Amino acid sequence: MSAGFRDTACARKGRVLMAALCLVSSLALGQEATLDARLQEILEIGRFVPPKALDALLKIEAQARAAPLRTKGTFLDLLSAARRGTGDNNQAMLLADELLALGKANADNVLIAKGLLAKAYTSFNNNDLATSHKLAWEAEQLAEKTDDMALRIRATINSGQAFAEEGNFPAALNKMQAAVGLARQYGQPIQIVTTLNSLAILYRQIKEYDKGFAALAEATVAAEKTNSPGRMSTLKDTEYALAIDSKQPERGLRALLAALEYERQIGAEAMMSGTFVNLADSYLKKRDFPRTLSYSNQALAAAIKLKEEGTQATARINIGQALLGMGRLAEGKRSFEAGLAWYEKSGDKPELQEVMMEYGQVLERAGDLVGALNAYHRERAISNELFEQRRQKATLELQEKYEADRKQRQIELLSRENQLKSTEIVNRRLQQRVWWLLAVVFALAAAIVGILYRKVRHANAQLQVKNLELKQQSSRDPLTALYNRRHFQEFMRTHLQVEKRGAGTSGEEIVGALFLLDVDHFKHVNDTYGHAAGDMVLKMIADSLREILRETDMIVRWGGEEFLAFLPAIPRSGVEEIARRLLTGISSTTIEYQGTKIKVDVSIGFAPFPLVPGEHALPWERAVNLVDMALYLAKAHGRNRAYGVRGFANFEQTSMEAIEQDLERAWRAGFVDLSIVLGDWQEPKVDKKAEKRSIA
Ligand code: GH3
Ligand code: MG
Ligand code: MG
Repeated sequence: MSAGFRDTACARKGRVLMAALCLVSSLALGQEATLDARLQEILEIGRFVPPKALDALLKIEAQARAAPLRTKGTFLDLLSAARRGTGDNNQAMLLADELLALGKANADNVLIAKGLLAKAYTSFNNNDLATSHKLAWEAEQLAEKTDDMALRIRATINSGQAFAEEGNFPAALNKMQAAVGLARQYGQPIQIVTTLNSLAILYRQIKEYDKGFAALAEATVAAEKTNSPGRMSTLKDTEYALAIDSKQPERGLRALLAALEYERQIGAEAMMSGTFVNLADSYLKKRDFPRTLSYSNQALAAAIKLKEEGTQATARINIGQALLGMGRLAEGKRSFEAGLAWYEKSGDKPELQEVMMEYGQVLERAGDLVGALNAYHRERAISNELFEQRRQKATLELQEKYEADRKQRQIELLSRENQLKSTEIVNRRLQQRVWWLLAVVFALAAAIVGILYRKVRHANAQLQVKNLELKQQSSRDPLTALYNRRHFQEFMRTHLQVEKRGAGTSGEEIVGALFLLDVDHFKHVNDTYGHAAGDMVLKMIADSLREILRETDMIVRWGGEEFLAFLPAIPRSGVEEIARRLLTGISSTTIEYQGTKIKVDVSIGFAPFPLVPGEHALPWERAVNLVDMALYLAKAHGRNRAYGVRGFANFEQTSMEAIEQDLERAWRAGFVDLSIVLGDWQEPKVDKKAEKRSIA
């Protein structure tokens, strides 16, 4: 913020070297007696001599307030600046608010921006820097939308100053250079001087002294064209500040004296008071106490007149310094203490500490050691207080930072928790999908297993049928479908219990019986009609057997053209009858083969079963063997007949082995009782030997 808006800072002490940059915006000076021209004149006056401007403005107030919008706005802006320049910040703020309201009511960006800037300057004077900066930046943005170049340049400078005050020097430099660019584009010397001066001040702040002096030299050339002592004085102030900081005190002093000359020409008392302070400071450094005293007194007088308390305090301290330097101890201390009192009241502790330190040093130099010690003690107390304040501030900041960190951690924790939850949801969804897939897979597997199970069951059923068929095939003879020999053997081994049968209903003994049949002259059938005819004959015999016997009887194809029948239960007297039925039944049956009638007869050997020659029944194999021997006898004795073993007699005089060896002899010896059944017709006897045996 330009020093023009905080002249207290300029005047307070020589240390604050902000140049009194009061050049803001302006148009060319006009000599017309119109209100606008008059306001322009007042603007120029107001930059350097605010009280004069205030007087002039108050005289035209009624007229200006009734003027058109822009004119009225300019008036309010200038009046606010004049109030500020004469130390009346409250009035300045009220006028700034009025200007802002006027701009808003008329939606006039120029007036709104001017109002915001007026408020920014006043806030700066009230030491409210944050508000001041915010307002300045807001004003800059609005100003950029207008075509009021002077306003835009001013807003850009103020924006740069705000950045500099916040320590953002790159941004500040950027703005200042932009402002210089705008001013050159605009071409008005006043804007060129103003922007270059602001740039020089900024270079001083960033310790680029050469660039600062260069900018200042350019500004001076431009300023000479404006014929304004106030403007020249401002530049001299900047030169002074640059000179002091770049360790050129003599050049600084020369600049100050030149500034004072310019200020005197226009009666700029506020500026002069600041210059007096700076001159006093310069001479104090040179230990020129009389001149220090002289300039300090002039500064004090001007400050009293301007009601600048800060400058008054600074002047009193400088007077104290000069007097103490000149050995006027009591007077000096009184003046110094008066200045200190204002600092103590103002509460600017760092400044007070610094001044107190100087007080101690100057007292020490003046030989007042007790006083110096006292001053140092006070300085220490302030220092401790400041330290405590800083410590508390640091603690507070740490606590705030800790709080912020804690919140940040909580936020991070929450977001992590959220992340975890969403991951969990995703996992659950995935899990559900996996379960679904598994379910589908299981269902498919179950379906497949079901289908396979049905297939297997079907296959098993088929297998069972096939097994049954196989079993039947393995137990049956394929030609006749009668049981085969193997099946019979199996049957006898597993089912047969050789036991005595009980009596039948008629009281007669029920026995089992074995019949073995052999076709007579079968070879002849084969030879005469062929093998197929032979097969037909065999089938015919099987059918006859099934017809003659019962279903419970077991009929077996025993060999090629031999058949075995096992009848489990018949009356003993019925055995021969069965033999007869077999003989006649088969021989009475004819088959037709290729127009020829074929008929055969059979020979039979038979016996009841079980056979019990002695104490023990014969095993079935030996019984069948005996029946086979009987069949042989039937063959030998003429065929178409049946020979049956009826019983045994005097068995103790022979043995089963002997009987089995020669049945005929055993029969003739009377050990075996045979029954003979003849077929319907008998062929002529050819076997003489057999016939002989038969007759015997
Ligand atoms: P016999 O018993 O009266 O003494 O005279 P045979 O002609 O029957 O004599 P043998 O017992 O020696 O002959 C049996 C013949 O039966 C021999 C064989 O060719 C025939 N044969 C055996 N099995 C079959 C068969 O399944 N089909 C046919 N067509 N012939 C068979
Ligand atoms: Mg045979
Ligand atoms: Mg035969």
